[in-house]
Amino acid sequence: MPDSIDPLDFIDVDHLLSEEERAIRGTVRDFVHERVLPGIEEWFENAEFPREIAAELGKLGLLGMHLTGYDCAGASAVSYGLACMELEAGDSGFRSFVSVQGSLAMFPIWKYGSEEQKLEWLPPMAVGEVIGCFGLTEPDFGSDPTNMRTAARRVGADWILNGTKMWITNGGIADLAVVWAQTDEGIRGFLVPHGTPGFSTKDIHHKLSLRASVTSELILDEVRLPADSVLPGATGMKGPLSCLSEARFGIVWGAMGAARACFECALEYAKTRVQFGKPIGAFQLTQEKLANMLVELNKGTLLALHLGRMKDEGRVRPEHISLGKLNNVREALGIAREARTILGASGVTLEYPIIRHINNLESVLTYEGTSEIHTLILGQALTGLRAFD
Ligand SMILES: Cc1cc2nc3c(=O)[nH]c(=O)nc-3n(C[C@H](O)[C@H](O)[C@H](O)COP(=O)(O)OP(=O)(O)OC[C@H]3O[C@@H](n4cnc5c(N)ncnc54)[C@H](O)[C@@H]3O)c2cc1C
Repeated sequence: MPDSIDPLDFIDVDHLLSEEERAIRGTVRDFVHERVLPGIEEWFENAEFPREIAAELGKLGLLGMHLTGYDCAGASAVSYGLACMELEAGDSGFRSFVSVQGSLAMFPIWKYGSEEQKLEWLPPMAVGEVIGCFGLTEPDFGSDPTNMRTAARRVGADWILNGTKMWITNGGIADLAVVWAQTDEGIRGFLVPHGTPGFSTKDIHHKLSLRASVTSELILDEVRLPADSVLPGATGMKGPLSCLSEARFGIVWGAMGAARACFECALEYAKTRVQFGKPIGAFQLTQEKLANMLVELNKGTLLALHLGRMKDEGRVRPEHISLGKLNNVREALGIAREARTILGASGVTLEYPIIRHINNLESVLTYEGTSEIHTLILGQALTGLRAFD
């Protein structure tokens, strides 16, 4: 039994991790302290993602870390989740970068690509030399991507792509876009390198959320691609949905990282801020807030670990991940907002991490399937009845 209770690991979840998992978690935590936290206020304020960090994340083995072969780290799902948790305790923008690179850009190549595509793209992506993005959402098709307008038609052996993708993380800095498009055979994935004639990007400005992350529009105007730019193994929505499931798994963990950072900050503040002659942490109302935050943080972390173990055993289903994403993002936002109240006015400045996490989590609530869509997925799993349309 530990001598004292660690407020940040109240029920000793650490005990459930292997030595290797704890080591990976520790490495990422140190990286976040050394490389993310010192710069994050400025990057968030200036709305910039420090591109040079991609190579550092690659050096740590965090890009495509749960994939095997092709210079990827081949780590377990739990290790990948722990890395996401630590990164998002720094900022959701960094976890988003790693999620998009590994789960949305590398995963479809790894899972559905030809051997030549894998050999060409995965090794440089694993070291952060090549940055990827994932183009599914369109201006008129967000929650309902099945009806997307972007289309690819065959001209001889080549493909011609036309369409617009919207809200694409890493779009403007990507060397390679994985673009999903309608074809005669159903929806298929295409590898579109930066610089291909007819392909351009436009960054989206004035975001008040995920500011330390590049979000862009992708414009495809008669983009001609060779026959071997299509991912041979994926036809239909199964392809992009399986990538989303991978990325959502990272969010289940990441959201608890953001929540933990807010809890830690609020707890510290409650012990030192004095009002009415005593620390505000001595008031019952503040203690109730902290206790409620603690309970949800621990439940969410256990849920993430449970889903991670299921994933490592090959037993996790997309519906399980929906349950995790729905709960953990919702509860992380609840924890972050409660933490903000404990800081009073100080809670709205960038000098403390909380308002930044709240704003980031608003995007996390929406992307990779909104909370409403995950609710409908669970409703369908329970009743067998589809309520989307
Ligand atoms: C910062 C950021 C980064 C992103 N990165 C990417 C990326 O890298 N790649 C990518 O492809 N996309 C990305 N997205 C897009 C994201 O996946 C979409 O925003 C999301 O799928 C929702 O689509 P939408 O915004 O068009 O909202 P809509 O689909 O228009 O939904 C609006 C509202 O209606 C609700 N709604 C929709 N349908 C139903 C229904 N059947 N029943 C009940 N309610 C419903 C939604 O839940 C939501 O509340 C990103 C978004 C953001 C904000």
